[in-house]
Amino acid sequence: MADIGAIVREIAEEMAAAPDRGRVADYIAPLAAIDPGKFGIAVIEADGTCHAAGDADEPFSIQSICKVFTLTMALGKVGDALWQRVGREPSGSAFNSIVQLETEAGIPRNPFINAGAIVVSDVLLGGLEPREVLGEFLRFMRSLTGDDTIVMDEIVARAEQATGFRNAALANYMKAFGNLTNPVDRVLGVYIHQCAVAMSCRQLALAGRFLMARGRNPATGGGVVSPGRARRINALMMTCGHYDGSGEFAFRVGLPGKSGVGGGILAVAPGRASICAWAPGLNERGNSQLGSVALERLAQRTGWSVFDPVGG
Ligand code: GLN
Repeated sequence: MADIGAIVREIAEEMAAAPDRGRVADYIAPLAAIDPGKFGIAVIEADGTCHAAGDADEPFSIQSICKVFTLTMALGKVGDALWQRVGREPSGSAFNSIVQLETEAGIPRNPFINAGAIVVSDVLLGGLEPREVLGEFLRFMRSLTGDDTIVMDEIVARAEQATGFRNAALANYMKAFGNLTNPVDRVLGVYIHQCAVAMSCRQLALAGRFLMARGRNPATGGGVVSPGRARRINALMMTCGHYDGSGEFAFRVGLPGKSGVGGGILAVAPGRASICAWAPGLNERGNSQLGSVALERLAQRTGWSVFDPVGG
């Protein structure tokens, strides 16, 4: 049996010393100010044991990792009807790309690229006020973690609101195709604030537990989604969670994962562990450079892989 605690500590030491740390996101000003020397990792096993190392308790901007949880909420709200407005195919394009929307009638390829997540925010908004939807989202994150301290970082949200021209372009373009029902500025406000939630590796690993546990929160036994829905969310994380780096992540890590430009990656080893790694520097695809390396080493050393269920 692998000593998970020792593996996690060893990886944190290796990552703290790694010279090639990638580049922090600079299109959202407060993210550009984060120290690229940070590294944190938290692994929560199926029995609840938590192994954390490095900066695992420091909150960072979850950014696109929120898309896993907003998708979960939207499926809860409208079920499979969501798939009439968002696809389930990897895009092979950058997270903020607009090109496919023109030939695909304003239907985003999947819920994890920005365009898809903006449609998901529109679905969640429904006829509600933005602050009601954001309150629901925070309540969901707090209930999954059992932690009421989780909040949105207004400074990050305001910075993104001021410079989010690409997201505004995506939203307006989809609105022109009739794939947004609410006013564009309200939808973008919801989307940007969902991305601006701050959480630590430990909190994100707690929030991801239902995805390793067939849809149940193992701490409470409460059902979050059905086992089939948990499988499908994991499938989308595997195929689309790292944008045009999704194939590479599946090849190197072999676990469903979702990255964010804050440098976090949530990964799921079904039946075994919920994992979050954080290193702010990104690779050329906008995914955490050292977060990916750390998860690759964790998968290698534990033997965890969805392609080898008896490994580890
Ligand atoms: N809020 C960011 C954006 O919309 C999220 C992108 C990401 O994390 N990949 O650009």
